[in-house]
Amino acid sequence: MAKRGDIMYERRLVMVPGPINFDPRVLRELAVEGLDHTSAEFVSSFAETLSMLRKVVHVGGEYQPVVIAGSGTLAMEASVTNFLERGGRALIVSNGYFGDRFAELLSNYDVHMDLLRPDKIGSQVNASKVVEAASKGNYDLITLTHVDTSTGVLQSIREIGKELMNEETIIVVDGVCSVGGEEIKMAEDGIDVLFTGSQKALGVPPGLALIWLSPKALQKLRSIKRSISPYYMNLSRWISIMRSYEEKKPTYFGTPAVNLVVALRKSLELILEEGMEKRYLRHKVLSEAFRNGMKALNLQLLADESSAAHTITAVKLPDAISSSSLVDLVRSMGVLIAKGLIKDINYFRVGHMGTVNANDIVATVAAIERALTKLGYKMRFGDGVAGAQEILHRYGL
Ligand code: PMP
Repeated sequence: MAKRGDIMYERRLVMVPGPINFDPRVLRELAVEGLDHTSAEFVSSFAETLSMLRKVVHVGGEYQPVVIAGSGTLAMEASVTNFLERGGRALIVSNGYFGDRFAELLSNYDVHMDLLRPDKIGSQVNASKVVEAASKGNYDLITLTHVDTSTGVLQSIREIGKELMNEETIIVVDGVCSVGGEEIKMAEDGIDVLFTGSQKALGVPPGLALIWLSPKALQKLRSIKRSISPYYMNLSRWISIMRSYEEKKPTYFGTPAVNLVVALRKSLELILEEGMEKRYLRHKVLSEAFRNGMKALNLQLLADESSAAHTITAVKLPDAISSSSLVDLVRSMGVLIAKGLIKDINYFRVGHMGTVNANDIVATVAAIERALTKLGYKMRFGDGVAGAQEILHRYGL
């Protein structure tokens, strides 16, 4: 609960980069009682979910979505370990904390890794550098983080994917902070393995790991002799479970998170009702409004303008203003924002994805203004709000 003064409020605006504010229609689905994973009702709900998951990333039946109980990190580990054998080679392209997590997790396995980082924090790795490294390194897979939630940097994928589409290398994309908010067209972008967690732009409480596999990835899974993947994460097992569900046949490997799956079905229905293109545009406009609000307060953004994500923004603070004091004050006003994740940079992060609307942006900018003023930052009340409003008005919101 959010504490304002001495009173606890249940209602609060969640503007951290996931989990987000969930649509009540999605939350109500969680209350379903007595749903057994082999029932016709659940099997058909799961089949519909898988079919809608393809539409969200613009692919057809030759791509296989997989839904497993677990967080984004499980999806991350499954997405790499299934495509590597002992002594395998991976190129990790990292724009921050979550890109680096690939290296951290792979250090638990007996594989070779190379790490590619941008020239400075806040930039993305140049596509030509990735393609050049790929041409020399004989990699089994390359990992890219579409949006690094620690820096708010959006990595361009399509240029890299198109260049490497016909190579054997598997392109793995972390879409945890992007799928459902950022434009991502898996086939056109040349992505082989894409994954996300349920709690961000897909708008479902945490607990589901979602992975999509391209025909090339499916072929690789069939041909790989002995991957380093542990038992629960073995994608070949899960694929046959997903296929059974799609054929409306009850099946079992590990008990699915039934309530979360029916909530996901509802959320996907709402997402597709809005339409993907409209959804991308909404995220673009709302993020631009937020960035403009921050700039109007003379605050600097961590990500370069050309690499700014539409789902999260990282905002730098002058040394005199402590980011944890700011975050705590804004939270005490009922707006939940997040601290930074990169050491030695004084900044905070705001998520704007999924159910977010224009009012949420205005309220967040306004709370940040009040908190900054309390902390002694020199600014004129309303400048940030005006900056945000200007963009919202320009796009007719
Ligand atoms: N990758 C990215 C880009 C993320 O933002 C996160 C979560 N913030 C993860 C991976 C890990 O996901 P989870 O916390 O659900 O394990």
